[in-house]
Amino acid sequence: MEKVLLVTGGSRGIGAATALLAATEGYRICINYLSDHSAAEQVCSQVRALGAQAIAVQADVSNEDEIIRLYSRIDAELGPVTHLVNNAASISHASRVEDMSEFRLLKIMMSNVVGPILCSKHALLRMSPQHGGQGGSIVNVSSVASRLGAANEYVDYAASKGALDTFTIGLAKEVAGQGIRVNAVRPGYIFTDFHVHSGDPFRVSKLEGDLPMRRGGTAQEVAEAIIWLLSDKASYATGTFIDVGGGR
Ligand code: NAP
Repeated sequence: MEKVLLVTGGSRGIGAATALLAATEGYRICINYLSDHSAAEQVCSQVRALGAQAIAVQADVSNEDEIIRLYSRIDAELGPVTHLVNNAASISHASRVEDMSEFRLLKIMMSNVVGPILCSKHALLRMSPQHGGQGGSIVNVSSVASRLGAANEYVDYAASKGALDTFTIGLAKEVAGQGIRVNAVRPGYIFTDFHVHSGDPFRVSKLEGDLPMRRGGTAQEVAEAIIWLLSDKASYATGTFIDVGGGR
């Protein structure tokens, strides 16, 4: 089976590290991004330099019309998706729940919950034998925040990742008989630009002294777990989670 991988939010951080690792594993790769075209093209060039076919496609994963356009491009240029990493997500500045606006909550739930569900829906339409596919593998990028709750800061973000965890368990059971595995990776504090969007670019270095391992993690360390779950090496793993949180 030709392996065609979609990494949502693949232009930076954990998504980019995942695309680069996948490049040496025989995947054709679509790097999706929201706004930073040059960053996505740069990752694409790095992936191609490692010998893999790659395209960069802009699409907002919280909008189904854009997801349909994204999958159509992949169908035409790489072939039907066989592997999906639901990695794109958003976060807002630290806030208590009583100060959270409806706009903020809808934005987070659309990108972090509805987006991965819709991206999975369109992947299943290509992976499922009932739709002419040959099975596949989905990895959702959650967070240890789903277990911890992120009180006083990002309860909305933590709740969105809790929903993603539940989706992982339910979808895994729903499609296990169709040769499709669904798993999740839950990172802890990882050095990426994600924290710029949370209002504290230096968050990981500030907090790492209090972590069990006394350091933040790297995008590469998270990508290793994603790539393993995605691959046939994890052939009997579905509905499961790997926490990459340095003991947190
Ligand atoms: P990042 O460096 O901020 O990268 C985010 C990526 O997602 C970018 O490629 C961005 O594209 C894209 N994106 C954002 N919203 C999107 C949307 N609506 N549609 C399509 N693409 C979108 O983030 P990261 O730290 O690598 O995080 C990746 C995943 O790990 C997320 O699910 C996050 O919740 C999870 N995570 C991260 C940490 C951490 O400490 N970093 C911890 C736990 C979990 P543009 O650049 O073009 O906007």
